[in-house]
Amino acid sequence: MSESSLAVPPITTRLSWQQELARAVRDPAELVRLLELPTTLLEPARRASRHFPLRVPYSYIERMERGNPEDPLLRQVLPLTVELDPAPGFVADPVGDLGASKGAGVLHKYHGRVLFITTGACAINCRYCFRRHFPYAQANASTEQWRPALRYIAQRPEVEEVILSGGDPLTLADRRLAQLVTQLVDIPHIRRLRIHTRLPVVLPTRVTDELLEWLAGSRLQPVMVVHANHANELDTTVASAVKRLREAGVTLLNQTVLLRGVNDEAMALTALHQRLFDSGILPYYLHLLDRVAGARHFAITQDRARELHRQMAARLPGYLVPRLVQEIEGAPGKRWLPP
Ligand SMILES: *Cc1c(COP(=O)(O)O)cnc(C)c1O
Ligand code: SF4
Repeated sequence: MSESSLAVPPITTRLSWQQELARAVRDPAELVRLLELPTTLLEPARRASRHFPLRVPYSYIERMERGNPEDPLLRQVLPLTVELDPAPGFVADPVGDLGASKGAGVLHKYHGRVLFITTGACAINCRYCFRRHFPYAQANASTEQWRPALRYIAQRPEVEEVILSGGDPLTLADRRLAQLVTQLVDIPHIRRLRIHTRLPVVLPTRVTDELLEWLAGSRLQPVMVVHANHANELDTTVASAVKRLREAGVTLLNQTVLLRGVNDEAMALTALHQRLFDSGILPYYLHLLDRVAGARHFAITQDRARELHRQMAARLPGYLVPRLVQEIEGAPGKRWLPP
């Protein structure tokens, strides 16, 4: 990111988050034009986007370097035909989410916490995401469909924490989220409300007064786990959004996916975790890629992942080192990989 683009506020900061979301780039030709990329990228991007559409907000594109096809932010969203190559071992549902689904958008795999699939929508389509194959038309819960999920939670006193996930829960309107929180507050054994979201990073204008109100204004302890993979994602607009969340009393954590060509260098990972803390976010998880069909080109070996983790740990204070984890179907939690 150049200094000049930081000095002059981009026009998108004057739009509401809903307007920004509606104007997200979906046409590969527009992305290629905006970033002055080689036009040879266009036809492959068109072909691959028929399987999983391109989707990226301007505010995120503004943090990419013009003319650089290898930009670490661009690589996360640019459709490539390599996604269409057959890749043995890379499957549609690598973490067994379909088996764990309790109906009506609840995933209950781990003790004490449930994942609530609030919506299938995201502000950005990340090419490495397991969601590219998830049948969200069924898993997606509308306000009315939330009823069975709420009943499921109410009937299980061991559940202390509800994790709003998706898709991205923050693509929903604050009014609906506030209604949901009101209903969760009425379940006495729920103590914590956790939000898994990429929006404060990808679309920082999403952090509205209304959001702070439902998120931090109830008896539930608010935790937000954001998702950034590279230091360039964290500009001053993200830092101000995070500052408002922290001032409201929200605990902020980050999860990162290890991605070849994006962050598979110790220096990149070190810089990311320093920059996260500059913004007031602590590291949580560093995930090995879920082996989802279409994402093989992002994979690195487990040995390489552990080596990168060791190198990063040798440069950072302990509290800035995330846990290296892998999701294993049927396990009682994310599996921590030894150093
Ligand atoms: C990852 C995940 C969680 C959260 O696990 P934590 O280790 O508490 O972050 C909860 N439920 C499901 C189904 C998950 O996949
Ligand atoms: S669920 Fe998260 S990783 Fe997947 S596409 Fe949406 S924002 Fe990206």
